[in-house]
Amino acid sequence: MKVLVLTEQKLMEFLASARTAYDVRVPVSLHDGTRVIGRLGEGPLAIKGGAINQKITSIFFPHMETVLKCSNGGFESPEPAPKPMLVVGFTKQDADCLEFIDRFYNDKFRDDVYFNKRDNAVIVCVSGRCGANGKLLKVSGDNCDMELICDGQDYIVRAYTDVGKSLIEDIGSTEIVPEETLEQIEKESDQLCVEGLDLLNAASKLLLEDKVPDEFWQSISDRCIACTSCNLACPTCTCFDVFDRTNGCGIDRWRIWDSCQLDGFMREASGHNPMGQELIRTRRRIHHKLAADVTRWGHITCYQCGRCDNVCPTGIGIMSVCKEMVEKYG
Ligand code: SF4
Ligand code: SF4
Repeated sequence: MKVLVLTEQKLMEFLASARTAYDVRVPVSLHDGTRVIGRLGEGPLAIKGGAINQKITSIFFPHMETVLKCSNGGFESPEPAPKPMLVVGFTKQDADCLEFIDRFYNDKFRDDVYFNKRDNAVIVCVSGRCGANGKLLKVSGDNCDMELICDGQDYIVRAYTDVGKSLIEDIGSTEIVPEETLEQIEKESDQLCVEGLDLLNAASKLLLEDKVPDEFWQSISDRCIACTSCNLACPTCTCFDVFDRTNGCGIDRWRIWDSCQLDGFMREASGHNPMGQELIRTRRRIHHKLAADVTRWGHITCYQCGRCDNVCPTGIGIMSVCKEMVEKYG
C-alpha cells in the first residue's frame, strides 16, 4: 500500500508553506517544557507527547474575548480573522469534543463569534506511537480534515475531507510504508478506551436512574477546593460569563469562561442561588455530562480526553469519581 509519509523536517516544510493560506497553529514547547498550541516558529515543534494540557477548543473559544463593540456609531460584531486557521495537535478525543461544541454553538442560536474562527478551519489530528512516554494515541478516523499517524518516528498522512485532500496534493512525493505498520497501529488503537467508556456508561446509568445519594456527593465535594482547573481544562465545558469594559469611545462586551464549581456560578441578582451548596455544584459537574446531556443531546458529552483527571489537585476528575461511584453503587 502506498501512503504519504513525512519526516518531522518535511512536516515543518509543509506547515511553513501552508502559512500562505492559513494561520497555522501547532503544539510548541515553552521554556519550561510545557506544550501549548502556538504559532509555527513560536517555540520548538512539540507534536509528540500526547494531548496538550490546555483546553484545546480554546483555539475557537478563548478564555476571554470581545463579543460586541458599542460606540457612538452603534453596535459592531468582531470581524472574522483574515485567514482561516490550520490547527495541528488534536487527539481523537479532542476532535470528538470539538464536534460536540460545534453542535452546541449552532443549536437554535448560531454563535457567530465562535464560527468566525471555526468556519473554514482545518483540523489536523495526531495519533499513533507518539503519546506521553511512547503511549499509543487512538487513531481518529474521519472526525478531522487530516491525520498524522506516527509510526514511532515519522508521520503517515491521511486526508479525509476535500480540503485535507487538496492540502496533501501539494506535498507531492509519496513513500512506501509497510502495510503491517499501519494495520498494527490501527488494531492496537481499536482496543483503546473501551474500559473507560464502559465506566462512563455505567456511571451515566446510575445517575439517570437516580441511584447516587447525596452522601456520595458530599464526600466528593469535601475534597473539592474550587480551583476550577477541571472546567478550565475541559474541551466540552462551554459556560461563560459576560462583562462590559470601557474602550475610550464606548464599551466592549467581553465573555470569559465560567466554572460551575464557583459559588457565584448561578447566583441571581436577587441573591437567590439555585446551586448555593458545594455538594450540588460537584454533583452538577459530573451529572451534566453524564445524565443531563444524555437527555438533551442523546449522548454523554465527556470524551475521555483525560484533562480533568490530570489537572485536579485532589484526585476527583470525572474518571476517578465514576470509578468510586460504580464501585459503591454499581
Ligand atoms: S475527561 Fe474531563 S476534561 Fe475531558 S471531556 Fe471528559 S469531563 Fe471534560
Ligand atoms: S479541579 Fe478538582 S479541586 Fe479543582 S474545582 Fe475541579 S474538582 Fe474541584
